[in-house]
Amino acid sequence: MTSLLVTGIGELATCGTEPEVASVDTRPDAAFVVERGRVAWVGTSREAPAADQVHDVGGRAVIPGFVDSHSHLVFAGDRAEEFAARMAGERYAAGGIRTTVAATRAATDEQLVATVARHITEMRRQGTTSVEIKSGYGLTVLDEARGLAVARQFTEDTTFLGAHVVPPEYADDAPGYVALVTGPMLDAAAPHARWIDVFCETGAFDEDQARAILLAGRERGLGGRLHANQLGPGPGVRLACELGLVAVDHCTYLADDDVSALRDSGTIATLLPGVEFSTRSPYPDARSLVDAGVRVALASDCNPGSCYTSSMPLCVALAVREMRMTPAEALWSATAGGALALGRDDVGRLTVGSRADYVVLDAPSYLHLAYRPGVPLVAEVSGSPV
Ligand SMILES: [Zn+2]
Repeated sequence: MTSLLVTGIGELATCGTEPEVASVDTRPDAAFVVERGRVAWVGTSREAPAADQVHDVGGRAVIPGFVDSHSHLVFAGDRAEEFAARMAGERYAAGGIRTTVAATRAATDEQLVATVARHITEMRRQGTTSVEIKSGYGLTVLDEARGLAVARQFTEDTTFLGAHVVPPEYADDAPGYVALVTGPMLDAAAPHARWIDVFCETGAFDEDQARAILLAGRERGLGGRLHANQLGPGPGVRLACELGLVAVDHCTYLADDDVSALRDSGTIATLLPGVEFSTRSPYPDARSLVDAGVRVALASDCNPGSCYTSSMPLCVALAVREMRMTPAEALWSATAGGALALGRDDVGRLTVGSRADYVVLDAPSYLHLAYRPGVPLVAEVSGSPV
């Protein structure tokens, strides 16, 4: 067994699990030991045990790898023209997803694998070490199953999103499409998926449809997640809380009842500020959520339509600058919070027993993630230069 001592850490953000929702544990002159890919010991350089190898990071800051709990990486084509039109004044609506559906259906498996691989590499360069990937641009039995099989090559956290939008061939038969999603499509998708998700929004799926789809997934052993309250107020957040889902994502338009339901259920509110940035929309009120005792995660929502960024450091900077989170809260939400949103206790933190997924920043403190937005600060990921 080979052990590695990472030492000379100017600031180590360990990011515990609950209840330190808003705190980051920072220690000067910190060190930790890695054995078999896990953190085996955490302390100061002075007290560090002997190890087979030593890696001195020269006073730089170390954080856990980011856990991006919401992405849509299985797609083909891009929608740069749509983005340009939106920036010229057109409003974002759910229908643009169909453009990507057509391109994705036409792509080969090899093209889809290459696209996911390219984005995973891009994410890793920006410090992301765990990622959730959704299907949702196939919307046929065959294309959803193959999208999930592609995603499975890269992560265990794969999510069946057959209920992304109603595809054009079912435009006049939404009930027929829901029957397909909860029947043959779920049968084909379930072996490749850990989670099931629904886009519960005007123009996509309503509350009853979302409930039926989530319960059908639960019957097949899939955990539920939900896109909700992104484009306007709606029933999605309360539905997620009622069903005890681990996370509900977007949460941009919330009523007081939604906030208290989130607090009381423990369902995590995953905020995706890259979407509001990219669609020039109002941001979710993260400050009120955190102050109300709601657990908040941050994720990229990387997708070719509403938010084509893969950068968790950008999400942290936006959360601090635009959503009034403190830098500590934002870091926690992008690491430990993302892990909780995926029901995982082995990632998103650097404590004894966790996976040794760590990021060395070219900075003396994690504060620089928000203080220096847009600057490529990630120097190393788990011992490898980026
Ligand atoms: Zn999404």
